[in-house]
Amino acid sequence: MLKEDIQNRIDKNYNFKFNQNAQNLELYPYFNEVSTASSPVIKVNGANMLNFGSNNYLGLTTHEKVLSESIASLKKYGSGVTGSRLLNGTLDVHKKLENKIANFYNKEASLVFPTGYTTNLGLLSSLLTSEDIAIIDAQIHASVYDGLRQARCTIRSFKHNNIEDLEKTIMSCKIKPTVCVVEGLYSMFGDAGNIKAICGICEKYSITLIVDEAHSVGVLGNKGRGAAELQQVMDKVDVFTITFSKSLGSCGGAIVGPKKIIEFVKVNAKPFLFTAGNTPASLTSALTCLNLLDANPSFIKELHQKKDFLIALLKEKGITPLSKDGPIISLALGNDDQVITTWKKLMDKRVFCNPVLFPAVKKGKGLIRLSIMRTHTIEQLKLLVSSLESVIQSNTI
Ligand code: PMP
Repeated sequence: MLKEDIQNRIDKNYNFKFNQNAQNLELYPYFNEVSTASSPVIKVNGANMLNFGSNNYLGLTTHEKVLSESIASLKKYGSGVTGSRLLNGTLDVHKKLENKIANFYNKEASLVFPTGYTTNLGLLSSLLTSEDIAIIDAQIHASVYDGLRQARCTIRSFKHNNIEDLEKTIMSCKIKPTVCVVEGLYSMFGDAGNIKAICGICEKYSITLIVDEAHSVGVLGNKGRGAAELQQVMDKVDVFTITFSKSLGSCGGAIVGPKKIIEFVKVNAKPFLFTAGNTPASLTSALTCLNLLDANPSFIKELHQKKDFLIALLKEKGITPLSKDGPIISLALGNDDQVITTWKKLMDKRVFCNPVLFPAVKKGKGLIRLSIMRTHTIEQLKLLVSSLESVIQSNTI
């Protein structure tokens, strides 16, 4: 039995949308069980489905080289480092990966974290204080918010990707903001950040610019370094954060930027110091994926070819995604019921995708979020579009 105060708190605050027990399970879209590797076809809740719900944009989680190197790493280093990086959890592979990332981004240094979430959390919570103002895009990821909240700094957001509002927000601050944090590719709408213009504003007001390229690494730019590379402003961005959990087929994240910032964060970030280091196999898979990306820029072209093919096909059917910038193809649906009903109909047609509801987006502005992989076949993309077409036609609400 739970103690009464805790029981009451839970009863009062339960978000029933996310409560598997309180829902009609048929229409419950979360925590589906996948029993295969992340590929274009996966088994979800025991049924084979087309996978349009993964962030495995380059399809590298099952690449032969990634698997063989990761297995060798598991055998060499064992299953876990069992301790903080500070004390006993730093492997030579951490160092190799950090060097690789720093070189890839042409920056002085890099620091690897256990997840992308703790990367932003660690960087921002250690670098900023209650004296600072941080400027963020209104669509910024929760990990950035949480890092800033932990730092207790003042958070000022500007309208999504809106440069005039960014400048207005900066000018309305009583003291000069310390940092501006934006994303290279936004995870819900799928649109690229206007990094070039943001660089100009940050330069004008002497504000340190941090760009989270979580979804854009491996996806944007000739070498796959993200939106800043695509917009040719890599040297104007002070610090990048990335994750390994999307195109880099693993789990973990990294900061990359000036040595002085990296060295400071390394000995001050609690989400870095008070948690165990990455598992050896996950480090090696990230490193192998990065090496593969570096050696095969054609991967990025292949992904964009698939994306362009899909968007052209959608256009023929009168379906317009929110953005054409990358592999996140979001369709505006409306209220929660419309989103969930559409998601369920797609599942019935063996199409797995992600419903996006409030609070990830504004109330009544729910989305169906499809993400494509380099390894999807043309046939699979055609199947997706024919399923979408019939589901959208059948929607009456
Ligand atoms: N930043 C952004 C922009 C993200 O979308 C995410 C996760 N979706 C993260 C950071 C956190 O990354 P991870 O899931 O690897 O912890």
